[in-house]
Amino acid sequence: MSPAPAGKLIVISGPSGAGKSTLVKRLFELKPGPLVSSVSATTRPPRPGERDGVDYYFISPEEFARRRSQGEFLECCQVFGSDHWYGTLRSEVTPSLQAGKWVVLEIDVQGTLEVLRQYPDAVTIFIHPGSMQELERRLRGRRTESEADIARRLEVARQELAAAHHYRYQVVNDQIERAAQELSNILLSQKGADR
Ligand code: ADP
Ligand code: 5GP
Repeated sequence: MSPAPAGKLIVISGPSGAGKSTLVKRLFELKPGPLVSSVSATTRPPRPGERDGVDYYFISPEEFARRRSQGEFLECCQVFGSDHWYGTLRSEVTPSLQAGKWVVLEIDVQGTLEVLRQYPDAVTIFIHPGSMQELERRLRGRRTESEADIARRLEVARQELAAAHHYRYQVVNDQIERAAQELSNILLSQKGADR
């Protein structure tokens, strides 16, 4: 049982390529509250430019399994057809919540459902890319995945879009600035709410 947290848990999900990282970066600049990000652990290799401890904690499958068996994850799962493990470390969340921070998790749908079991008042927001065509264009434009990876991510995206109704809010990322403002307003509307 978790004690009633003083802070807020904010969960942001959406298909890979929908623009979550871009929007979250802008949200931190808009700063609607005392935001902190939770750095996830993953077994996937870093992309060019990604930094260990900043974008993710990049760890081996063995290290991931060890931490998992020790109960260090609030939630963890294999995303994208069981390729790699991703997980939210309790150490990234609990101390910040207790300090009254708004902890932002960028996680997938499976992870969100697990978080909601433990924190039913988490503010959950689903980011839509606009259309599947636009999603494909953004994934290709990012130039970080292989063709096979892009095809797999598009397939997973269809399943994720079908799960959007689990989220309290849905935001269409048609334009970065407009969508970031909408996200910011959603969080501002939570101020003072006992969530
Ligand atoms: P995610 O974190 O959801 O996987 P990213 O933030 O990496 O997605 O965005 C995927 C690509 O789409 C990036 O190249 C990003 O610059 C671009 N992008 C994000 N939002 C928009 C938008 N509203 N319009 C056009 N391109 C966007
Ligand atoms: P990427 O490889 O593009 O960084 O992330 C792939 C997917 O993994 C995204 O949908 C992202 O939201 C999800 N993800 C990242 N970290 C976590 C995590 O800690 N837990 C879960 N469940 N999903 C995560």
